[in-house]
Parts: sequence; structure tokens; C-alpha cells
Amino acid sequence: MPVMVYVKIGMFKDRGIGPVLASSGGKMAHIFVLGAGLGGSIMAYELADQIGPGDKITVVTKDPKYHFVPSNPWIAVGWRERADISVDLAGPMAKKGIEFITTAAERLYPEENRLQLIDGRSISYDYIVLATGPELAFDEIEGLGPDGHTQSICHIDHAEKAHVAFEAFCTTPGPIVVGAVQGASCFGPAYEFTFILETALRRAKIRDKVPMTFVTAEPYIGHLGLDGVGDTKGLLESEMRGKHIKWITSARVKKVEPGKMTVEEIADDGSVKATRELPFAYSMLLPAFRGIKAVAGIEGLSNPRGFTIVDKFQRNPKYKNIYAVGVCVAIPPIGPTPVPCGVPKTGFMIESMVTATALNIGQCLRGAEPDNVGTWNAVCLADFGDSGVAFVAQPQIPPRNVNWSSSGKWVHLAKVGFEKYFLRKVRKGKSEPYYEKAAMKMLGIGKLKEVVKV
Ligand SMILES: Cc1cc2nc3c(=O)[nH]c(=O)nc-3n(C[C@H](O)[C@H](O)[C@H](O)COP(=O)(O)OP(=O)(O)OC[C@H]3O[C@@H](n4cnc5c(N)ncnc54)[C@H](O)[C@@H]3O)c2cc1C
Repeated sequence: MPVMVYVKIGMFKDRGIGPVLASSGGKMAHIFVLGAGLGGSIMAYELADQIGPGDKITVVTKDPKYHFVPSNPWIAVGWRERADISVDLAGPMAKKGIEFITTAAERLYPEENRLQLIDGRSISYDYIVLATGPELAFDEIEGLGPDGHTQSICHIDHAEKAHVAFEAFCTTPGPIVVGAVQGASCFGPAYEFTFILETALRRAKIRDKVPMTFVTAEPYIGHLGLDGVGDTKGLLESEMRGKHIKWITSARVKKVEPGKMTVEEIADDGSVKATRELPFAYSMLLPAFRGIKAVAGIEGLSNPRGFTIVDKFQRNPKYKNIYAVGVCVAIPPIGPTPVPCGVPKTGFMIESMVTATALNIGQCLRGAEPDNVGTWNAVCLADFGDSGVAFVAQPQIPPRNVNWSSSGKWVHLAKVGFEKYFLRKVRKGKSEPYYEKAAMKMLGIGKLKEVVKV
């Protein structure tokens, strides 16, 4: 087996504050970013602006291509193709002087500042930023997921498979069930996909043959894991009523069989209020997320679901040379709900984590203590195919300074604009904040402050 060994600088765990670094101590620092999705790709670009001349950045990811996950619902109905939303990262990474390793990580050994790859290579780091996104917990419900009886839009491979199934469905239409299961945190895309499907069915002139049901762990429509934002409850309920989509809230999916789903409705006291059997000819349910195996089950690093524990500086409190951004970050739920609901980690929130992390690692490299805190504001555009709903939550947990939601055709146009904007940014290796330029302007809320100094 080939073994790659980089020079390891200092024993950081003893000092607890990171290495002696290029800009301050004249030694090179090697910074790793694990994962090159929405968070990891821009993380690498933003870090490139922070490092000193002798420092080095390496990105380790299992997929050489970046895929714009928010476009997956469009892939599933055939409005986009893989090539439209994919970027080969090798070019932009090379242009920025970033080493790019396209091999999956097997295990992180934080006590040794070492990452083991699945091909046997072992690499040492001075700092590592975990940006690994979620592991999709389909296995927690019998029959759930693309290896079972429901579709998924979480990954481009799933979305392509969902498209093939949708095409077949259109020839023999029947009931549709869409939603998000117990423990899910990503509710926006479930609503999006419901309304996108509804639009696609109308365009195919078969909507009249398709009863639609939305099934969700949320205690009410529009909760979104955030206890609602502005009037998301009213807006989304109204859209559902207007489009004849039925819904079941506080739903716990017991099992999925071919063409049939068993769902329990849970009362406020946790008891089962009703058990329903829902027939379906097509179904897409978002699963619960957990952390990937390579970084899960490490005392002090990960929580029981494998998400990485960070302080307000995006840094792990025990291993201070480990940072995390994106969906892999541990965030407690906003409050108790009859069925567990996680907090969504949306693009703009991830952007704020990335900016804070890049600045904080830059400070460490210059021998200072990190003091940048991401705002973690939630900003989301949920496309419905021909209209949509947008919301802004600042801060994420209510009561909020900005608690705004709106709907209209402009949301669909704005989302298409962001897709182009973000993909261009990834292709160019640019590090301007995601959504900032165009979205904030369109939303009419001015420039958000991504990072607050403490
Ligand atoms: C269907 C869907 C639609 C969404 N739409 C929106 C939206 O419209 N707006 C919004 O703000 N947010 C949206 N989100 C939420 C969020 O913005 C995305 O999930 C986003 O992709 C999360 O970014 P991330 O970097 O945390 O994870 P990801 O983008 O999933 O990236 C994870 C990276 O880690 C890599 N990786 C994983 N395991 C390993 C391993 N073992 N070794 C090496 N590399 C590994 C992967 O290959 C990938 O490169 C959506 C989410 C989903 C699922």
C-alpha cells in the first residue's frame, strides 16, 4: 500500500491551540479540508486567502466533482441534467494552488492529527476542517430509500434514479407521497419537491390522476425545523390547500413496503393518535441525517449521531485544530416536538460558518486566538417550479430580529439565478460569500453581516 506522509509540525494536542505556524514561526502549516461539497469547496477557496506563503491546503473528497445539491429536485423531474449542475474541481483547485485528493476518508485519528484514507494512505495535518455533509440514515426505517421503495433527492445519483422512476410513473399515474421522516432536518427541499412535482404533473396534464399527500415529522406545516419563519405556516398551508395537497404532520413513518407506507400520527403526549396506511405509486421521503462514519464515535469530537461538536468559533472544544462547517456540524433542535425534528443547515448559514472558520484559522496561522463567529442566519429560497417561498431568519432561534417570509414567481427566478451564480463561483474558484451579492439584494434586506466579532 502506498503511504503518503506529510511533515507534522508540533504536537498540537499538548498545546491545545494549534501549531507554530508559517506566518508567526516560519514553519509551514498543512491545512486539510475534508469534503468538497457546498461547504468544503468554498472553504478551500476562502482558506487560500488566509494562508502564508509556506502554508499548504489539501482537499480530500470522495467525489472529484462538485454537484449543486439544491438543484437535485429539478434533476428528478428532468428540468436539469447532471452536466448542468456539476463542476470538475481539479481545475479550480489547481489554479488556487490547492492539492486535491479524490479518495474517501476512512477514519480520523484526532489524537495523532492523522487522516486514514480508504486506499491505505495516511496523511497528517496541522488543521483540518470537516465539511463532510450528512450520511443518509435510510436504514433507520424499513423499506426507506433508493435501495428500498422510496426515492431520494439528497444526492445527484439518487435524483437521477428518481427521474427514471418519475418518467415511468407518468405513464401509469397514481397516488404520490412526499415528505420528511422522523429526525429529518432538511424540510425545505421536501416542500420544494412536492410543489415541483405538482407543477410537472400539471404540465404533463396528469395532475387530475394524482392524489398527493405530504407527510412530515414537523408539528405543523411550515415549521421547517425552525418553529416557522415569518408566516411560513400560513404561506405553505395556503399553497397546499390551493393545490389540493393533503398533509399529515407529527408523522412517524413505521415502514415502507412496495406501494404502501405505514405512518403513525403522534399526539403531543407522544402517544400514537392514529395509524394510517398510505398507498403510493411514487414516493420521495427525505431521511434523517447523521455524521459520516470516518468522524463518528470519537469521544469529545462527535455527538451520539456522529455530528461534529463545535464552539462558536466553529472549532472543536477538545481538538482545537479541528473545525467543522456545514451539515456535519452538531446543532441541537430548536425545541421539543412530538416527533424529532432537526434544525436545517442552509447554504447561507453554511457560508457564514465557512467565512468564520477561514478567518479563525488565518488568525491561528498568525499566532492569534480566533475570534470570528458566524451568524448562522437561515436564508432559504424554496422553488415551486413556477413560484416559490422565501424566508430569512436572523437569528435562527426565535424570537428574531428578522423573521420574514414571502412568496411569488420571483422566488423561482431568484433560485435559478443563485444556481448559476454559485456554480460560476465554484468553477472560477472564487470566494465571495454564497447568496450574498444577488440574493440579499433581491430579498431587499441589504447586506447581512456574515461574521460578528466578539
Ligand atoms: C435535496 C436538498 C436540497 C437543498 N436545497 C437547498 C437550498 O435550496 N438552499 C439551501 O440553502 N440549502 C439547501 N440544502 C441544504 C444544504 O445547503 C445542502 O445540503 C448542502 O449541500 C450542504 O453542504 P455540505 O458542504 O455540508 O455537504 P455536501 O454538499 O453534501 O458535501 C459533503 C462533501 O463531503 C464529501 N464526503 C462525504 N463523505 C466523505 C468521505 N468519507 N471521504 C471524503 N469525502 C467525503 C462528499 O463527497 C461531498 O463532497 C439542500 C439539501 C438537500 C439535501
